[in-house]
Amino acid sequence: MGPAIVWFRRNLRLDDNLPLDAALRGHDGVVPVFVLDDHYLTADFSPPRLRFLSESLAELESELAAKGSRLLVRKGPAGEALASLARETGADAVYSHLDHEPHGTQLSRAVEAALAAQGTKLRLLPDLHLVLPSSLRTEAGKPFAVYTPFARRWRETDKALPVPAPAHVPTPPAVLDSRFPSIPRSRPRGLRAEGAPANPAGGGREGRRLWSVFRGAALERYGDGRDFPGVAGTSRLSPHLRFGTVGIRRLLAEAKAGWKEADAEGRRSIDVFVGELAWREFYASLLAAFPRVLSESFRPEFERFPWVEGEEAAERFAGWRDGRTGYPIVDAGMRQLAHEGWMHNRVRMVVASFLTKHLLVDWRRGEALFRERLADGDPASNNGGWQWAAGCGTDAQPFFRIFNPVLQGERFDPDGAYVKKWVPELATWKSAGKNLHAPWRASTPPADYPAPIVDHATARAKALAAFATLRAAR
Ligand SMILES: Cc1cc2nc3c(=O)[nH]c(=O)nc-3n(C[C@H](O)[C@H](O)[C@H](O)COP(=O)(O)OP(=O)(O)OC[C@H]3O[C@@H](n4cnc5c(N)ncnc54)[C@H](O)[C@@H]3O)c2cc1C
Repeated sequence: MGPAIVWFRRNLRLDDNLPLDAALRGHDGVVPVFVLDDHYLTADFSPPRLRFLSESLAELESELAAKGSRLLVRKGPAGEALASLARETGADAVYSHLDHEPHGTQLSRAVEAALAAQGTKLRLLPDLHLVLPSSLRTEAGKPFAVYTPFARRWRETDKALPVPAPAHVPTPPAVLDSRFPSIPRSRPRGLRAEGAPANPAGGGREGRRLWSVFRGAALERYGDGRDFPGVAGTSRLSPHLRFGTVGIRRLLAEAKAGWKEADAEGRRSIDVFVGELAWREFYASLLAAFPRVLSESFRPEFERFPWVEGEEAAERFAGWRDGRTGYPIVDAGMRQLAHEGWMHNRVRMVVASFLTKHLLVDWRRGEALFRERLADGDPASNNGGWQWAAGCGTDAQPFFRIFNPVLQGERFDPDGAYVKKWVPELATWKSAGKNLHAPWRASTPPADYPAPIVDHATARAKALAAFATLRAAR
């Protein structure tokens, strides 16, 4: 049997990699490749993500070299690149993972067609999720559109166990020869390690380090700790899950391993953590079943919502984007996003709610900015999170529940560790006291920090009035 091509996409690791494992079982040798498609060069594919991808590929390259193999990099389009590589190596099959996102599905189809024309098979295996997106159905045979029943079924569903990394990755000698064509990772123009030093670092080694720190110090207190942005209470694994530098089956198995020995709080926390992994799978399923949500509100009536437009929307959006709304928790979140390319989940909910409900700016603008700035930018979770916060999605936070950013700050950042870190004007403000989350209430507000862009009570009333127009139009 000839060699097989292993096409790495969003599973940039050797451990717990089902396509690689299957290729090695069925073939004498494998040809690992990453295809630099134009997709990576679009504006959407942000600098923090490029940096993460570039670092992850560099590490994969050296891991493969240590196992006696090599990572080839070819320029896209993927169909042509893979078909050509199959001809050059005599490979009769290409192994990769299933991808249920609209872009991924399209790409798989194009590759399948290009390969089929020359008799090469494309074998796609589940590798990004624990349960295949959109495979679970309600009693009525419909895709789930509510999280709780989805999660119940998801928890009951059998899940594959992790597979170990291979000891050796046999690769045809001709491919190992340095003259065998492969473009440098840094070309064409897009794949430079851009991004800022504070952006999440890529590669499986860093993913395993984060996981080990989190497991040791925070997993068994995650139930409560995950809500406090000022403490290291969450795993920060989101970009690693996005690029697959850490295997999802490995993560689940290790998260559950400590369950028996844990105390009641530890067990609850592990369950909550697994529930968050289920949120990721819920949103992936939702996007697979309803690809229209990428551009439309899940609830059709929200397509008539009177979002502010024109100059006013642009001004409000800019104040929010630049972290100058005058609400400390919102500004801290937006500044963390700009600086790190990552934001804490509690604060993502608060800033998204603020943009859509306090400022009445269309959720799509916020979603696009997140996509542009986040290292973990994930079409399904980002869209799901935004539509949840805006009240127009499945399972959404009802529109009339409007987060009060002052109370959110006081409750989840009680000592101000988070806002002081990201908003230095507040860290140096001498008379902060109990007004840290509402500086305008102080007799001497900080001189260099903006006054609130909108008044909470007035904005809330306007949001409810706007929402009422939807009901009236029913
Ligand atoms: C408006 C908004 C936009 C978001 N955009 C994204 C995005 O683009 N990419 C992304 O990965 N997550 C997104 N999320 C979900 C969540 O905020 C992040 O996954 C989480 O903050 C990542 O931090 P962590 O790895 O420390 O999470 P942990 O708390 O350690 O959770 C572990 C993993 O579970 C998954 N997860 C946790 N919470 C959620 C959730 N609410 N929804 C879906 N998956 C979850 C993530 O994969 C995460 O890495 C968004 C949430 C909101 C409210």
